[in-house]
Amino acid sequence: MKLSHLLFICIALLLSGCESEPQTHQGKFYAFGTEIDVSLYDVDKEVANNTITVLEEAFSTVNNSWHAWQPSTLTTINAAISEGKTIAVEEDTAQLITLAKTLAHDSQNLFNPAAGKLFELWGFHQDDWFESHPPPSETDINNWLTHQPTMDDIHITNGKLSSSNTLVKLGFGGFAKGFAVDTAIEALKQHGINNAIVNIGGDLRAIGSHGQRPWIIGIRHPRQSGMIASIALKEDESVFTSGDYERFFQYEGKRYPHIIDPRTGYPADQATSVTVLHTNASIADAAATALFVAGDDWPAIATAMQIDKVMLVRPDGQIELSPQMKERVRLIGNTKPAIIRTLKDSSTS
Ligand code: ADP
Ligand code: MG
Repeated sequence: MKLSHLLFICIALLLSGCESEPQTHQGKFYAFGTEIDVSLYDVDKEVANNTITVLEEAFSTVNNSWHAWQPSTLTTINAAISEGKTIAVEEDTAQLITLAKTLAHDSQNLFNPAAGKLFELWGFHQDDWFESHPPPSETDINNWLTHQPTMDDIHITNGKLSSSNTLVKLGFGGFAKGFAVDTAIEALKQHGINNAIVNIGGDLRAIGSHGQRPWIIGIRHPRQSGMIASIALKEDESVFTSGDYERFFQYEGKRYPHIIDPRTGYPADQATSVTVLHTNASIADAAATALFVAGDDWPAIATAMQIDKVMLVRPDGQIELSPQMKERVRLIGNTKPAIIRTLKDSSTS
């Protein structure tokens, strides 16, 4: 079990500690190689159990459709792209790819889900990604950089997808969990459930409240055990964090984390974690990845992506906050005062 889960569950248990009904029902299952925790407030047990089964199916469908290397809708599309062929896509597939195009464009391609070949070169698109192996050769990275695959190369017209660059390989790991969480929340709302949290490995979306109290969630410290901050959530909000501490491999004493800067072809190294608070989970997830890559430039990219609640932890431990995030976050521990950075430009205030 990941630490982030523990933190979340501790808080949830604390909140549900009171004797009086109604209660919180917890369910858990696995998808995307991680644990998914669902908390439902004020529903009866049978409804809770049925709902959790529905959510398990929703997650499994998203995972199976968008898996980057096991046979899926995505691998079929990628095969067509690499052969220079046009392929028919379903309406919902087209919608997700169009969303990926918009998010990539808004992030100035720092969120680049067309860079699947680069993620593959680094060995992250395989089941044994954590095993030690040498980093890719400079020649391979430079070759990828020369062709710069981006989502702008992808065109969808009348249900037909084509790519003007055969080196585009779609890889939605940067926002698939967010998309799955949005899909799950939609399913909950359709089932008339209005007070819930869907938590995937510490990233989550919460709707409604926990009775009279808001849902309160913890954000994991990127370098120490325990939390760095907590946030009391409002009506319908998502909190997604991208970090360098969970998915990385080591080679000859050096760590290579899994978020890659598409400008250099190498792992981004100007942040240890980035947390984004936003209504929509897909957007929060993509933005956390993009701002992690942006590093020092994060305020400009956040502005371009219309994200206003950001917390970024620098490699030296310095916390940076947007003014809107400062209003929402409670920092924990004896941390140095956070630097507040305005979003209109990338200057420090
Ligand atoms: P996690 O899913 O572990 O919380 P992220 O949301 O930051 O982390 O996604 C990281 C994953 O996204 C990587 O494993 C890779 O598949 C993909 N990825 C890496 N760099 C980028 C990038 N610059 N843009 C889009 N996707 C990326
Ligand atoms: Mg992400």
